Amino acid sequence: MTESINVDVVVLGGGPGGYTAAFRAADLGLSVCLVEKRDTLGGVCVNVGCIPSKTLLHAASLIEHAKHGASMGISFTEPNIDIDALRTHKEGTISELTKGIANLSKARKVVRLQGEGQFIGERTLSVSADTEQHVNFKHAIIATGSHSVKLPIAPDDSRVWDSTDALSLHTIPEKLLIIGGGIIGLEMAQVYSALGSEITIVEAQDQIIPAADKDIVQPLVKATKKTYQLLTKTKVIGMEAQDADIAVSFEGKKAPESAIFDAVLVAVGRRPNTAGIGLESIGVAISEQGLVEVNDRMQTSVPHIFAIGDIVKGPMLAHKATHEGKVASEVIAGLDATFHPAAIPSVAYTSPEVAWVGLTEKEAKQQGIDYSTGKVPWLVSGRAQSVGATNGVTKALFDKESGALLGAGICGENAGELIHEAAAVLELGGTAKDIAHTVHAHPTLAETFAFAAELVEGSMTDML
Ligand code: FAD
Repeated sequence: MTESINVDVVVLGGGPGGYTAAFRAADLGLSVCLVEKRDTLGGVCVNVGCIPSKTLLHAASLIEHAKHGASMGISFTEPNIDIDALRTHKEGTISELTKGIANLSKARKVVRLQGEGQFIGERTLSVSADTEQHVNFKHAIIATGSHSVKLPIAPDDSRVWDSTDALSLHTIPEKLLIIGGGIIGLEMAQVYSALGSEITIVEAQDQIIPAADKDIVQPLVKATKKTYQLLTKTKVIGMEAQDADIAVSFEGKKAPESAIFDAVLVAVGRRPNTAGIGLESIGVAISEQGLVEVNDRMQTSVPHIFAIGDIVKGPMLAHKATHEGKVASEVIAGLDATFHPAAIPSVAYTSPEVAWVGLTEKEAKQQGIDYSTGKVPWLVSGRAQSVGATNGVTKALFDKESGALLGAGICGENAGELIHEAAAVLELGGTAKDIAHTVHAHPTLAETFAFAAELVEGSMTDML
């Protein structure tokens, strides 16, 4: 027998977008049902994305930092890596967070249904688990997230990984090929390199992290090229699973014709989960790329149905999904909310970290904007010198006429934290003068952002 429940809002997908939307709607006094097919809430981010990757990256950085102590006269013995214990630690971190989200959901009296949801009418979602349930709703928020893109040439073999396989940490391959030099590929390279794998990274474009400016990525290239083989402007054109290894053939000037690897991680992007959930049948418009079309209130072409997170336009990032989730619920509750951030920061949690926000220099050029650049190598920073972090750079772009900050890029230790000053200035419409007049503590790495502004504003004339 099919059971039915009636709610103000049904949220499909319990990732950062979905659970944030559900909690905000409940806090605003609406009755909410949250539908998730996994056993736990938290989505890709908490279960198989942001959190496990950052946990493993922290372990990698402990190993790396221990190695670098020798230059300060402090040396440690070779680290003993117990991958079973590391995996257990990672699972424990995930479990703490998913339990916390479940408790927050319970405290708000959000009705949680575990099962696969599909729209069967403009006001009804069917959820199939052991028994089928129908959720009748006044409003729906779709937050079904995304999945890894598969390479058609990749054989179906347990040694060909996606990011979830890489994060499961079942084995440390001797030779690991990573296809895709974006954030996920580079973060996994950092982890497996620290654990002892020999890493090759293949990127079709002319630089790793193609979304950021080349000069901002340069310190990362410098830090990793001694340990990884980085093959840019290179494509994988064939892959064959053999008994002992995977044979891979390449096309690219500096690439070998072929090579063998113990495992291959395919990290070439992600696609929105918009198929098979009944969207077409209820008239929700989907773009050619498979994204749900929304306005700045996160409303789809069916006004009482909203969509957020990886399934709508913009960067596929957890912090974008959560902001959009709040907007959708506030609009449903009758508040005047829109999603119009001045900028959304992006971070690669590599060593050194790469972070950028607002316009890149590439984009400013393409858009014909007249801009000034303040660029500061971290060699000039007293803090960078004292902590051995001189391999870094801070760059800020300003509108030539108004002095308004247009964007910033930082590569170096803690760049992912430092970038938020630039994000706040962008949100507030601040200028080079505002940044230069803000007293920055000394000695901090954040001073490099003030120096970049001072160079443009004229209160500092030269860096080196
Ligand atoms: P998701 O987190 O994908 O959640 C969607 C949920 O919907 C899933 O749990 C899924 O099971 C459920 N679902 C789908 N279809 C149905 C259905 N029909 N019925 C029921 N449930 C359904 N972003 C960052 O900002 N910082 C990072 O450091 C970062 N690191 C990452 C590392 C990796 C390895 C990966 C893969 C991603 C990373 N991301 C990071 C991206 C981030 O995880 C996503 O942008 C974010 O999770 C998107 O949130 P979401 O709510 O849109 O969807």
